[in-house]
Amino acid sequence: MTETVEAVGGDGQGGARAAEPGQATEQDCPACGERIPVDGRFVVWCAACGWNTDPGGGGGRSGGSRVDQLRRTLAHRYGEQLFTDLGREPAGAPTARSGPAGAAGVLATVLALFVHGITVALVVWGLWLLIAGWGAGFQPALGALLLALAVTLRPRFGSLAKIRHGAPMLERSGAPELFALLDEVAGAVGTRGVDVVLLDAGANASVRTYGIRQHRALRLGLSLWAVLDRQERVALLGHELGHYAHGDTRHGVLVGSALRSLGTWQYMLAPNHGETIMDQLGNVLTALPRLAVHGMLLLLDQATLRASQRSEYLADTSAARTAGVDAAAGLMDRLLVTGSARTVLQRETVTARTRIGTTARRDDPAEGLWGRIATQVAAVPEREYERLRRVAELRGHSVDATHPPTHLRRRHITRGGHRPAVVVLDASRSAAVDAELQEAARTVARRVLRDGYLA
Ligand SMILES: [Zn+2]
Ligand SMILES: [Zn+2]
Repeated sequence: MTETVEAVGGDGQGGARAAEPGQATEQDCPACGERIPVDGRFVVWCAACGWNTDPGGGGGRSGGSRVDQLRRTLAHRYGEQLFTDLGREPAGAPTARSGPAGAAGVLATVLALFVHGITVALVVWGLWLLIAGWGAGFQPALGALLLALAVTLRPRFGSLAKIRHGAPMLERSGAPELFALLDEVAGAVGTRGVDVVLLDAGANASVRTYGIRQHRALRLGLSLWAVLDRQERVALLGHELGHYAHGDTRHGVLVGSALRSLGTWQYMLAPNHGETIMDQLGNVLTALPRLAVHGMLLLLDQATLRASQRSEYLADTSAARTAGVDAAAGLMDRLLVTGSARTVLQRETVTARTRIGTTARRDDPAEGLWGRIATQVAAVPEREYERLRRVAELRGHSVDATHPPTHLRRRHITRGGHRPAVVVLDASRSAAVDAELQEAARTVARRVLRDGYLA
């Protein structure tokens, strides 16, 4: 089953704004009068009183439907509670899979089985009508219709082609150094490596399982990979593979497929916007099942929310154990500035399209793209990190409820104290990995500059 287990971080609020390199000057804070630095590339804010810390967010809790707001509130509560709970467990101990996520996990499993049970019932009912009702008017036709419905709703094992989406792919044979590193990190977190690595332009990473035999695919977003230092890259791999080590995927297969089936129901039962009597009548008839599906989705979402947040904290623990606490904490910081990476990418896309570039490298704008993103992100000053940390704290779960707030994740990582790395990526090995990625990375760069970046 195709299951997105995880994306390493959801948001990346803010980031660099304007393109012009800033001439740093100063101004008075309009709120408290403190002298504050002004850098044209970044938001001007006051560290003393918090003025303008999050100009675009408004606290982040106002937008969206009532359901979204409820979800955020609960997610925030879970995030804080889990942070406290996990703090009581001995640091570095192999984290138990049971515990607070247990009851919700059972509920999620029951709900998922119920959803698939409906599909099974449709098969049985359809077959019955088809066979027992043969020759009896419309019954076989109805039976065939029910069977077709069941086929649409069946749990699906994702195929590699589907999750790949045409992304450049690396396999063991073509990238021995990368896969050796993945195997080593996997060994350190207590699982096996992945079967393929997919590359895209995003500022994120994720692991997925596909096919009936549950093969593993790692998706690496080059906008994130490029801005990480060597140990932070190990931390990223440790986090992703940590999801497998903590058994998140087994849970995900059943529940994930049930969520997809419910999504199909929701699509089929969506109200008609037509004006005719028939449209209206149809809407009335589907109202009740529509409500039921909506309720099921909400319940399942709530039942899995806590478990998915917990799995993020545990994956972070794996990252810290593998790459060292400092690198894992560094990864959290880098997640804060993914907005800057996106800004650079968008700017580069526009430049490549309008061809207003002046330097020689414009022969092939894709050349060195990831390096330029890394340079730009490396230039983000500590003061901007501090602001983004505060934004993350202010907004809490405004963007992605499956991830605990980044500041809590960072605190969770560092509270065990300093721990050394188990896997060390030295310069020569890192260069070998880069060389293996180079060709695919160039392809991704060309594509993103051609098609634009829309994430
Ligand atoms: Zn994760
Ligand atoms: Zn102030």
